[in-house]
Amino acid sequence: MEKIRGILIGRMQPVHNGHMEVIKQILTEVDEIIIGIGSAQLSHEIKDPFTAGERLVMMNQALAEIEVDPSRYYIIPMQDINFNAIWPSHVKMLTPPFDIVYSGNPLVKQLFCEEGYEVRQPPLYDRLHLSGTEVRRRIINDEPWQHLVPNATVELIREINGIERIKNLSKKEVSDI
Ligand code: NAD
Repeated sequence: MEKIRGILIGRMQPVHNGHMEVIKQILTEVDEIIIGIGSAQLSHEIKDPFTAGERLVMMNQALAEIEVDPSRYYIIPMQDINFNAIWPSHVKMLTPPFDIVYSGNPLVKQLFCEEGYEVRQPPLYDRLHLSGTEVRRRIINDEPWQHLVPNATVELIREINGIERIKNLSKKEVSDI
């Protein structure tokens, strides 16, 4: 029987528990999930501190933590392109065929709707705390953040000295003003 595939695209800066809740929910609805690591060209910026490769490791290890069968997911880095209208075609070129697009991002929903895809908005999980912005803010301000992300994210950030990276990037922004 043909497999039903869903796709979720996110910057994942960093991978947090909100992403993992959404992925668990999607896996109850489809056979396979494609996880797009968006804005793959960006790193070492205050809003985008981690490379695509670092985010890929976070996601891969986080999926192992919750024991997702590796045959059920693909993780694919994807660079942004300048033309929103043809971005869905760009995504299609990079991925296995998919049936359902999962997103809470209004632009992503709009672009794939216009292409005729079924678009589903997953429920939001504690959006006040479970967002990349909030995790990065807490890291900069020495507030607890580890409980908001999978162990895999904590571990990768430790391994690459990511706290220092984010703090340095935030200092640079301040002195640039
Ligand atoms: P994100 O990491 O903020 O979110 C990824 C997904 O997870 C989203 O659907 C979001 O709604 C969901 N999510 C996040 N926190 C959640 C929570 N607490 N509970 C439930 N769901 C939660 O990433 P994003 O900004 O949505 O990523 C979209 C990507 O698509 C970006 O990289 C963007 O640049 C790219 N994009 C590119 C183009 C182009 O190149 N022209 C056009 C559109 C989008």
